[in-house]
Amino acid sequence: MPLVSLSLYFLASSSSSSSSSSSSSRATMALCSIFCSRIPLRFRPKPISPFLSKPLFSLSYRVYSSLQSTKDELGTVSIGFLGMGIMGSPMAQNLITAGCDVTVWNRTKSKCDPLVGLGAKYKSTPEEVTATCDLTFAMLADPESAIDVACGKNGAVFGISSGKGYVDVSTVDAASSMLISKQIKDTGALFLEAPVSGSKKPAEDGQLIFLTAGDKLLYEKASPFFDIMGKSRFYLGEVGNGAAMKLVVNMIMGSMMASFAEGILLSEKVGLDPNVLVEVVSQGAINAPMYSLKGPSMIKSVYPTAFPLKHQQKDMRLALGLAESVSQSTPIAAAANELYKVAKSYGLSDEDFSAVIEALKAVKSREA
Ligand code: NAP
Repeated sequence: MPLVSLSLYFLASSSSSSSSSSSSSRATMALCSIFCSRIPLRFRPKPISPFLSKPLFSLSYRVYSSLQSTKDELGTVSIGFLGMGIMGSPMAQNLITAGCDVTVWNRTKSKCDPLVGLGAKYKSTPEEVTATCDLTFAMLADPESAIDVACGKNGAVFGISSGKGYVDVSTVDAASSMLISKQIKDTGALFLEAPVSGSKKPAEDGQLIFLTAGDKLLYEKASPFFDIMGKSRFYLGEVGNGAAMKLVVNMIMGSMMASFAEGILLSEKVGLDPNVLVEVVSQGAINAPMYSLKGPSMIKSVYPTAFPLKHQQKDMRLALGLAESVSQSTPIAAAANELYKVAKSYGLSDEDFSAVIEALKAVKSREA
């Protein structure tokens, strides 16, 4: 997309985002009135009210004024991208293809080469990326790497400063996100957590769903870029809400996959054709795209990695921790988590998470 179009795109998306904000705000407040008494304070969504916008704006305007006044053209906002894994690479690629000025970094430098070939700049540390870019996205494996890249040696916090923004799109727990947020905000910069729903293919197709929380001004500034990389975005209020939403979604997904794996194996064992099972499931009310997408390869015991099993187990672990923090019973997720742990112990960490079915096969063969 040419740079000028990006500017027009920004204007259009700003107005549409405010209308979606107000409807999501109504929904949030409605939900709040029902559930807030049961939600721990730190996870309660902050209502997005027009009456709040003035103090919020004046509080953050000084911080953001340089970006807003000197960057009239959205296309001139320089974007940093940290983490060129399965998700980070196609996300950065979509920004480059859209005409954005992108600087990349990855622990394993060679993974930056294809992006540099497409026109990205390269810096050798996260610190250098945030020092030279207005807005930096980070897509790291887990809480440890997200914290290390943000706050560790040569980390993002050492290059970032007032007038800049840091958007962490990794899947982490709320506490880790809050820690990163504090370190970033202590520099005067703005912070947003924005974990994504959607896997490798949606990342390639620019069809991700962003679950954001944190500085509202940064949300607005980053939205045109979210809209290049994704199909929808939710602003959920205070830091921690985006992380919690993502963990709940992935907890459901992990349990669904484990149950699907059991169904495939049970159908085989009673003499049914599991391919027909996948077809039947795809036509009924329990259909989910991932069943049709992954079922056929699971039946062939092939697991091309879109979402690494180690990350799914990490998300189950973090979701169970979230449930534990509010004494919510999650027996299905706890059982599914055990299966992912077994699969990891069989060396399947880097396979797709659908390889969880192998853990059940192993159990079956041990029982036989
Ligand atoms: P991935 O392919 O394993 O990439 C992980 C990235 O983190 C790589 O850039 C890796 O660098 C970097 N990294 C790992 N440990 C590090 C450390 N100690 N220091 C610095 N960098 C480190 O994972 P992914 O699939 O892109 O997922 C990234 C995040 O998105 C995860 O939080 C995951 O849960 C989440 N997510 C994934 C999917 C999906 O379908 N794949 C979907 C939604 C959300 P190297 O290249 O040097 O190893």
